Amino acid sequence: MPSRTPEDVAQHAAAAPDLPVLDAGVADCFACPRLVAWREEAARVKRASFRDQTYWARPIPGFGPGDASIAILGLAPAAHGGNRTGRIFTGDRSGDVLFAALHRAGLANQPTSVAADDGLAVRHTRIFAAVRCAPPDNKPLPVERDTCAPWLHRELNLIRPTLRVVIALGAFAWAAWWPAMTAVYGLRPPVPRPAFGHGAQVSQPGVPELLGCYHVSQQNTFTGRLTPAMLDDVLGRAKDLAGLA
Ligand code: SF4
Repeated sequence: MPSRTPEDVAQHAAAAPDLPVLDAGVADCFACPRLVAWREEAARVKRASFRDQTYWARPIPGFGPGDASIAILGLAPAAHGGNRTGRIFTGDRSGDVLFAALHRAGLANQPTSVAADDGLAVRHTRIFAAVRCAPPDNKPLPVERDTCAPWLHRELNLIRPTLRVVIALGAFAWAAWWPAMTAVYGLRPPVPRPAFGHGAQVSQPGVPELLGCYHVSQQNTFTGRLTPAMLDDVLGRAKDLAGLA
């Protein structure tokens, strides 16, 4: 049954017994009217280079195995990336950068991510976003972030047995971690909350290590604010912390 209200999201997320059910529930969510309209508008108007393609135009579930020890937490899908292809960080420049780095780190079987059926597989890593629908200007509203949070919290709960490290891509994801940590692990965040920064790390007993990483957006990668070497460093640290090195 589709989720059409915040209450539906909370109920359906909490009831999901495993990741396949959760993923199906995410993909069938219509709880944020503005984002539903935006994801469908992007699919109607399209980018010229994709005019012959049928967009997914739905929320984007997480990607990666259920026994992941590393989680990569992003902001939200891109209107002509994930919202087009149906898989997170797939079909845009952000994904090119991220999956090339995951491949160098031995966490992905190929360096490219162009379509949902391109054969990409990741190891030890689950990738998901704080908000599951593409937002205008990449800026979800606080109410949209809060409405979507139960999907994230349930996903974290389901991978909790093996999860050791969370990489927050950007300040939005970093901020989304604190309520998720409280919801999943029952712990309050440190006071004051640690500031986001590239390479920032927060260690607390009983919860995964938190690593900050600049977002793999074009804005950061084209300007050199985030270089491949910086990404490699964060993924290397994550592997160390997860016992995968
Ligand atoms: S942003 Fe999240 S809660 Fe809102 S419609 Fe998309 S999947 Fe549902």
